[in-house]
Amino acid sequence: MIIEKMSDDKLLKSVLLEVKKERDQLHIVLLHLKEIYRRRLFTEYNCRTLNEYCVKELGYTRGEAYYRVTAMKLMANSDQIEKAIKKGDLSLTAAVVASDYLTKQPDKSVKKKEEVISKIVGVPISKAKEILSTPPSKPEHPPKNELTPKLKVSKKVLKLLKELQDLTGEDQVKLLEVALENKLKQVEKCELKAIQGPSPIQSARSRYIPQAIKRKIRSRANYTCEHVSTHRGRCTESRNLEFDHHVTAYSKGGGNTLENLRLVCKNHNTRQFVLDFGSKSLEKITQKI
Ligand SMILES: [Zn+2]
Repeated sequence: MIIEKMSDDKLLKSVLLEVKKERDQLHIVLLHLKEIYRRRLFTEYNCRTLNEYCVKELGYTRGEAYYRVTAMKLMANSDQIEKAIKKGDLSLTAAVVASDYLTKQPDKSVKKKEEVISKIVGVPISKAKEILSTPPSKPEHPPKNELTPKLKVSKKVLKLLKELQDLTGEDQVKLLEVALENKLKQVEKCELKAIQGPSPIQSARSRYIPQAIKRKIRSRANYTCEHVSTHRGRCTESRNLEFDHHVTAYSKGGGNTLENLRLVCKNHNTRQFVLDFGSKSLEKITQKI
């Protein structure tokens, strides 16, 4: 029916119905975003974050994206919060207010989230801001800013250094330097063998990737992520790169070879994990979004 021709009564009933539909739709959009996040599907558009995907691919403004992703994260592990959003008792704005408050809290548990949300469910936004305006509590043990690295050595190391010093008359620090240099040479020699062909290091199954292989892969990748995404081609990320057992996962028998390994960004490494083991496995590891 044309809105302009509706009776007053019909218009007021109709708007209630449309608002309900709008809320239902928002809830469904948030469920989609949650699943896209779990599968790390945004990485197939070479987006670093779900927020970036919402802006670039879904056309939301930065603010709209932030509000939706924040609400999605809040409801991700809590049926209680999801119900509040679905019913319209928790608006996107209220979700962001609660999220800002929660980030300043030391307790990051779902229980704490639900406790905070329960205080503002169905409450006008101005009142919600007032309720959550109390200064956040400080962490009990602030991290110490230790600038001086300290090396703890065992009694056995001290005894060996003393013995060597007595025999050679050399300084203990110098003796330690020589010992470490010799060990380094030994490891580099093994790595060289590893890259030249099968060796005891490779045949004995280990997650350890020789530095020489790492160097070759970094060079092959031109120091950027080697993932080629479904929708946006090769990723260009050059920060936080990791080595990924691409062709065959390590736990499925994949080796530390040039052919099996690739250099990837954190997002594409996680995406590969989802492809190999499913998003449920990822959920078990992260336990939270
Ligand atoms: Zn990447």
